Amino acid sequence: ASPSGPTGSDDYGRPIYLNPAIPTQYRVNDLLRRMTLAEKVGQMAQIRVGKLRGDCNNANGPLVASCEQQVLVDAHVGSILSGGGDYPVDNTAKGWAQVTNGIQHYALDNNRLKIPVLYGADGVHGDNNLVTATMFPQQIGVGATWDTALAEKMGESTSATMRATGVFWDFAPVSDISRDTRWGRYYETLSEDPTLAGALAGSLVKGLQSYNGKGATAKLAATAKHFAGYSAPINGHDRVPAQIPVRELQDVFLPAFQPQIDAGVLTAMANSGAVNGIPVHASKFMLTTELRQRMGFSGVTVSDWSDMASLVTKYHAAPDYPTAIAMSVNAGVDMAMEPSNAAGYTQALTDDVHNGLISQHRIDEAVSRILKLKFDLGLFDKPFVDENAADGVVNGAGTDLARQAATESTVLLRNDNKTLPLSTGVHKIVVAGDSADNPAQQFGGWTVNWQGVTPGGPTPPVVTPVQGIKEAVPGANVVAAADQPTAVAQAADADAVVVVLGEKAGAEGPNDSENPALTAAQQSLVDSLKATGKPVVVVLMTGRPLVLGSVATAPTLLQTWLPGSEGGHALADILFGKANPSGKLAVSWPKTLGDIPMSYDQLPGTNGGPSSNYDPLFPFGFGLSYTTFSTATPTVSATTVRGDGKETVSVAVTNTGAVAGSTVVPVYVHQPVSPVLVPDKRLVGFTRVDLKPGETKTVQVTFNVSQLGVTTGDVDAAGRREVEKGAYAVVVGTAQAPFTVR
Ligand code: BGC
Repeated sequence: ASPSGPTGSDDYGRPIYLNPAIPTQYRVNDLLRRMTLAEKVGQMAQIRVGKLRGDCNNANGPLVASCEQQVLVDAHVGSILSGGGDYPVDNTAKGWAQVTNGIQHYALDNNRLKIPVLYGADGVHGDNNLVTATMFPQQIGVGATWDTALAEKMGESTSATMRATGVFWDFAPVSDISRDTRWGRYYETLSEDPTLAGALAGSLVKGLQSYNGKGATAKLAATAKHFAGYSAPINGHDRVPAQIPVRELQDVFLPAFQPQIDAGVLTAMANSGAVNGIPVHASKFMLTTELRQRMGFSGVTVSDWSDMASLVTKYHAAPDYPTAIAMSVNAGVDMAMEPSNAAGYTQALTDDVHNGLISQHRIDEAVSRILKLKFDLGLFDKPFVDENAADGVVNGAGTDLARQAATESTVLLRNDNKTLPLSTGVHKIVVAGDSADNPAQQFGGWTVNWQGVTPGGPTPPVVTPVQGIKEAVPGANVVAAADQPTAVAQAADADAVVVVLGEKAGAEGPNDSENPALTAAQQSLVDSLKATGKPVVVVLMTGRPLVLGSVATAPTLLQTWLPGSEGGHALADILFGKANPSGKLAVSWPKTLGDIPMSYDQLPGTNGGPSSNYDPLFPFGFGLSYTTFSTATPTVSATTVRGDGKETVSVAVTNTGAVAGSTVVPVYVHQPVSPVLVPDKRLVGFTRVDLKPGETKTVQVTFNVSQLGVTTGDVDAAGRREVEKGAYAVVVGTAQAPFTVR
């Protein structure tokens, strides 16, 4: 065999690349040698099958050739996607399996080299286009769990569901850093902190890409998205350019992606936006220098929606489509998500090669990565799924996990007069507010459709707060009050009132808000219920920490984020003390709109005034419990450590209250002096611990000292990250353990 491996046929007369026993890279090389340029550029295209809902949908039979022929045969398209809202008429697991199998059959039957098509979709909180699937909390809630083991299980469950339906590529998780609550997609982020967001995203990837060999399907690829800097549009509007100093990019935004890459994430999606005046789709610095050379990513990079074309149509950064494609492919994008113009794209890409704008070598590199992905997933060997098994894998799966996740994500923000937990002996309870019985708002965006469930339209399995409370106290009179006068009137002889306030579902531009605050009507509802003198529990079911107005003084306050299918059960478990709240804020809570954007890692300044300090309504990491905990003084494994070394922190944690509970132990590092400004404290690791009343456990958290790196240099910093030598201290609670980096 040549260095690039054998070619020709195996002993059974099969082409080498179709033999599963041959090492993958040899299969890739053999196949690549057989491909024409037209076949190669086709692999670099991903087209939308929005037509699943229209004339072309024939879920129970062969695909209608006139609809699919042009993309699958003439343009040799390598991948297909469902955007949010593209689902079969029969939106069941079986319906999906029939459609994806149908497409795969058609593709293989009409393709001389038998290269399977790879189907991708957004499964950002469960398999969210599939209406029979259980929905998990949105990522903003996953952030508040601080539970990496749970995140991994959610990834596994989503993966099993998607694979059963023939979707082997999930455009998730999102590693964008939470910054600006005006941004419509804020709820898709995990945390404002790169250590927390990174750890959870890495765990989601492990779960999504885990594959225990059982079942007849191929494996699944996760996606590191949106690489990078997408979450910081300068005025909070989606895809408006971001201005991110290189120092902040390298020290905050990019590190949130590293754990995913370390976990072997198979694909990455480029940020649709521009950073520092360069559209990321045309940035070789971002997509090649950072993503591949510095961070070690070796998979397939896909564009976001039509974003090679955006270089012409939106950014005016390229005069025409062929130039834009060359800019993007040469920057490092391997595949274009080109929803509706596969033929135009493949023609322009071909012209680019003929005109010398893109080298044959770069085409071979991109196509090799795409083919390797398909081989690694097992698609050549297992291109089809078992249509009759799909419903059995999906229906009812993940319910317990969704309940656990929704419970762990709930943050008890205030319980001043100890209203909670409520007694299960209540006689009458009033449940009010716009999200008390509103599946669309409970799920948020990317649920069946990208803008969320349409009122009255198909809805995934759901238990709302009203339903959950009714189930938890079957003997009580649970009154769902539709409006303010009813709620106030019904409160007169009630034992307690629960008010669930939400926000409309949505995504991207349509969900941006210049006023991310509770509405006047929501505040007035709470004010009028407080005036009744009855115990009032305010529950916030929102994808972001809203500015609360008068509700900021509510004596009892819970944040449940966008909790998904089991939100009502989880809330009732917490309200009636069956579960003890353990969620902690993964983001800072602004007091006023003027605080936005806000994060705990702000750098020191010289104005001592209150508004220049970090002064949130509730800080990063905050969350109460029905019990209390104390942490002892931490110890470190080494008082002197190298910049490329590790530290292990040990600390004793005690449940000092009367009921069992879980808490999160965040480990921060304080650096007393640093010529390059650093935040007062930086999160380096964390763990969760369960404790019975009076119980003490010593927990350990290990971190890489390299996490403390800062980008060196003056104001024009473009230097590498380095850990400054000198004094540091581990901080847990208010206690410190000093150490030195030498
Ligand atoms: C979003 C991506 C998503 C893609 C496909 C785009 O508009 O920015 O996050 O993966 O659509 O649905």
